Amino acid sequence: MSKPLNAIKAKVQALRAYSLSSDRASIKLNQNENPWNLPPEIGSEILRRVNERPWSRYPDFHARALHERLAEFAGWKADGIIAGNGSNELIQALLMVTVGSGTRVLISEPTFALYRQITTVLGGEVIRVPLSSKLTYDGEALRRAIESASPQVTIICSPNNPTGCVIDPKDLESLLEATRGLIVIDEAYHEFSGESVVPLLRQHPNLIVLRTFSKAMAMAGLRVGYLLTAPELAQEIAKAVLPYNLNVISQTAAQVAVEMYESTLKPLVNLICAERDRVYERLKEIKGLEPVPSRGNFMLVRSAMSPRLVFDELLRRDILIRDVSAYPMLGNYFRISVGTPEENDQLLASLREIFGSVDTPL
Ligand code: PMP
Repeated sequence: MSKPLNAIKAKVQALRAYSLSSDRASIKLNQNENPWNLPPEIGSEILRRVNERPWSRYPDFHARALHERLAEFAGWKADGIIAGNGSNELIQALLMVTVGSGTRVLISEPTFALYRQITTVLGGEVIRVPLSSKLTYDGEALRRAIESASPQVTIICSPNNPTGCVIDPKDLESLLEATRGLIVIDEAYHEFSGESVVPLLRQHPNLIVLRTFSKAMAMAGLRVGYLLTAPELAQEIAKAVLPYNLNVISQTAAQVAVEMYESTLKPLVNLICAERDRVYERLKEIKGLEPVPSRGNFMLVRSAMSPRLVFDELLRRDILIRDVSAYPMLGNYFRISVGTPEENDQLLASLREIFGSVDTPL
């Protein structure tokens, strides 16, 4: 028999796996999670509701109660919503129903690596438009790429992971008009920007919005995300989602979280935004560092010292950040997530110590 690996598509073999360093530290600023745990009143209400239900029964096939809660929360139609096992699952589902051999998918880079990964696995062709030199969206360049490449799908992450930039609403409208394909806006971090494109769904049947419970909602461990789009499109994308993709605990947790969002989670989001702005100002004062303005709960920092060295130095001080220097355009950058005020103070103190002796201008 020939080598088993020959059965794997060459383009898949050429891909670097989407992965994360296995390092651990007490101060965890590497995955853009909510630094506070889920508020206890949400946790106890989830457990109370779950305990009332027989464990032996499947979840509701249609997840109707959850879809209705999400519809009220987001201001969209329940039949235009799909809940998923994290928004990752929904990125995969929507690419599965749109991408085949040679299908063109347009993205800006640097961005969240999974779009490129799944498109490539499915045999699609990724068209890349670089961000501007300020690491912001280049609306003009995106429009030109849509006109010349006519992609089936365009994916825009806003706020963008890892740069924190948002797409200008006017640019987005112009892209929605220019394309003959679908435009996906990944709003994983929208709560931290105070903006959403959900109101545009009404006029644009080719718009798909993705959201997650892993960031502002403080539920990364429960794996919940959702997709909003025109009901006709939602019906098609749902064909690539497995039955009962979302277990009873996660479904219940998501319902309780949206019911209690304003009173329990929103104040934490406001605190994270205030901390983000404080950390940005403090980082500017450290010689050798240049933070990039961000609308998410994270930010890039340009570094005069090798990002790998900064990563190692911080890890020695029990702080874990993300080395993003292998991303396009980001050779001199690392990314930090915004932590609690105490965690941020420790990060800042450590960076002051590490960069205390740096005299290389940026
Ligand atoms: N989209 C973006 C932009 C992300 O940064 C992430 C997680 N890092 C996801 C989607 C995936 O989130 P989830 O936990 O909902 O699968």
